[in-house]
Amino acid sequence: MDEASFHGKNHFVLYPNEENEAIFRRVVETGEPFSIIAKPFQFPDLPEWGVTYWDWTLYPIKDDQEVVEWLIFVLRDVTENKRAELALLQAKEQAEAANRVKGEFLASMSHEIRTPMNVVLGMSDVLLETDLDAEQRRLVQTMHRSGKALMRVISDVLDFSRIESGRFTLSAHPFSPRQVVEEIAVFMRMAAEEKGLTLPVDVDPGIPEAVLGDSGRVCQVLINLLGNAIKFTQQGQVSMRLTPHFQEPGTLLFSVADTGIGIATEHMDHIFRHFTQADSGITRRYGGTGLGLAISQKLVELMGGQIWVESQLGQGSIFFFTLPLRPVEASEPLENPVEQRTETPTRSLRILIAEDSPDNQLLFQIYLKNTSHHVVIVNDGVEAVARVREEPFDLVLTDIEMPNMDGYTATRAIRQWEQEEGRPPLVIVALTAHATSGKREESLAAGCDGHLTKPIKKQTFLDAIQRVAESTDKQDFLDVLRNVSIDTNN
Ligand code: ADP
Repeated sequence: MDEASFHGKNHFVLYPNEENEAIFRRVVETGEPFSIIAKPFQFPDLPEWGVTYWDWTLYPIKDDQEVVEWLIFVLRDVTENKRAELALLQAKEQAEAANRVKGEFLASMSHEIRTPMNVVLGMSDVLLETDLDAEQRRLVQTMHRSGKALMRVISDVLDFSRIESGRFTLSAHPFSPRQVVEEIAVFMRMAAEEKGLTLPVDVDPGIPEAVLGDSGRVCQVLINLLGNAIKFTQQGQVSMRLTPHFQEPGTLLFSVADTGIGIATEHMDHIFRHFTQADSGITRRYGGTGLGLAISQKLVELMGGQIWVESQLGQGSIFFFTLPLRPVEASEPLENPVEQRTETPTRSLRILIAEDSPDNQLLFQIYLKNTSHHVVIVNDGVEAVARVREEPFDLVLTDIEMPNMDGYTATRAIRQWEQEEGRPPLVIVALTAHATSGKREESLAAGCDGHLTKPIKKQTFLDAIQRVAESTDKQDFLDVLRNVSIDTNN
């Protein structure tokens, strides 16, 4: 700007206005300097300059009596910098707006796909309950599986786009982080054990009993990480730890480690980007969309934490994330992290479960937690027979291999007692670990009414129980079981 235009002239004389006069008076009265950074100004006599920006300071110079005698007015033209900064800001806002539009488009598109897809899945489910020959069944099952895979992709896209478009809210309620970790382990252990992997869990005793946060989202991140760990590990173990984060007091440190394929150093920072996988061969070999980690990262960051990975190719990986979750008094009832849906059966059943594995006991407890069924869990066949003699049950679910007395022996003992006492036969269902037809025959021969193949999916399990609760006769229930067994086998 042209210095000559100002030379020897007083700004306040040149451009008198109320604001300037107020500042002038204030500096004279207080004796304190006054500054404004990048003050916008439009010269009335130079409209072609447009809005200009000035770093603007008024210094008082005082006499011996501390009275302001002079004012030094320093102006610095910062128009260029400010205009560049504004242009940058505008570009950023435009980019963010475009991103929001993209996110909203993805969100509504995924939603639109989900609705008809639900119908496709529901219909194929119904079709599977009809009489199909082996080939037809295989085709419908394949269709059902692909439909479910598509639904998972769509949920991921939906989550991701919701986060991107800023339409994502976190809830805050008291929950037990230990419970979250332990219950997720029970669920994920089924998938791990199917691949011959173990899934040990370690929760530090120093972890607060209850914290305030969004347990559902914490679960989602852990499930993503455990799902990946299981997917990318062929042998060894996947483990989960929860400890206080010693570098940052008040912060929890979660980690999921595996002994799987590992990640090359050069791929480590881009696997968190959306739709990105470590290398192009991954989709072919393992499937996936490359969205899981991007979503996990966004969720962790929204919750105020950080996520990172340490890995060695061929050795395994450890994913870490921190969450600053404030401890709270555990006086309020804690939110059940894994299952928040309430089932409302037609009638409450009295169910006896004979199962020696503490993990499976916990699993059944979680499955049945929000239902109105009355559940008794015993550890072996001896206890099961004793309980059946003591109190009435509508349904007995019995594991086959148990210490002291196995499930078949217990079933035979119960059947014999029923005959001797002239009682109507209880519905007894064997829980078998193997989906072979031999096991089914064996169960029936021992006097069971049917069998469920482990791992038993929650919905399958609850559906079967719901149908038992609704069924009026035993034949109806046996039909249910036939379909349940088919579903759990695939
Ligand atoms: P997806 O699993 O659907 O491909 P993710 O975002 O969850 O997407 O993971 C991105 C990529 O990061 C994966 O494709 C894989 O290359 C790599 N990755 C994630 N977890 C592991 C792991 N535990 N071991 C090895 N590689 C992993």
